[in-house]
Amino acid sequence: MIWLQSMKIYAAKEAGFCFGVKRALEVIDRLHELGHGVQVYGQLIHNRSVLDDLKARGIDCIDSSKELDANKTLIIRTHGIPKEIEKTLKKNKVNYVDATCPLVKKVHKIVEKIASQNKNTQILIIGDKNHPEIVAAKSYSPDALIINSQEEAHRLENKDSISVVAQTTMDADFFEKIISILKGKTGNLHIHNTICKATKVRQEAIKKLAPQVDSVIVVGGKNSANSKKLYNIALQKNKNTFFIEKSSDLHHTDFIEKMSSFRSVGITAGASTPPGEIEKIEKLLRNLNINAGKETNHGRRKRNPGHEYRNQ
Ligand code: SF4
Repeated sequence: MIWLQSMKIYAAKEAGFCFGVKRALEVIDRLHELGHGVQVYGQLIHNRSVLDDLKARGIDCIDSSKELDANKTLIIRTHGIPKEIEKTLKKNKVNYVDATCPLVKKVHKIVEKIASQNKNTQILIIGDKNHPEIVAAKSYSPDALIINSQEEAHRLENKDSISVVAQTTMDADFFEKIISILKGKTGNLHIHNTICKATKVRQEAIKKLAPQVDSVIVVGGKNSANSKKLYNIALQKNKNTFFIEKSSDLHHTDFIEKMSSFRSVGITAGASTPPGEIEKIEKLLRNLNINAGKETNHGRRKRNPGHEYRNQ
């Protein structure tokens, strides 16, 4: 039996589902409740438990137009789809609802507008070239370049003009580093900081919380861009940072053993992580804490990391 020391548990104020994800799930729930058959184009969001839940309700994510079911309403995922695919859906009069997050849509619109109005500027998209949001953004300007590292920014040729947009879930500090490199590449830099507010506030919250606790748990899908960024940010501030997909990952004995050496833990979650997962983790840690309380009483003063305090 492993006994934990009495542990303080803090959840970041800003964590879990963002506006874009909630909006998309509400659309699906409404249609489902009204008895409509529903399909989703691509993975609605990058979170396994949410996708499993949709599947259990008969809602499948499809990867191509070939899998379309004419009797169902198609939902466009939060990350959006390439322009050509949307055109084909319209042409074929497919019954669809666009649940692309408006903030992702904004990035696509900016790229489209610059491509049509300013042929003399090099459009630069900063982000992961394989992420659906960026694949869709690039479809609005096939000549746009995509970069995702400082090395790639350094390797760029000098240009008369560069117009930049960012993946909505980008690390704000990384974006600033790229911008300072680009300033040396052109005298005419047009910056569109399209990192979304939900991303910024989650990153700021974990930046403050991580150095003030002994350990950090980040909950999110392994393929969720914003969750991975949260993990990297937390890890820079606190080497005892763990990335898990769901609360049940905590049940492993070796994890509990690791946690036994910490007196405080901070929890955060990506924008596609259901709030229920954070609550389950808090509950699990609290239960361990109850056992610890029976065994030890260190009488340590409570530190106040300035975040919502859920348990002690
Ligand atoms: S992380 Fe931002 S851009 Fe992405 S779905 Fe949420 S609110 Fe929209």
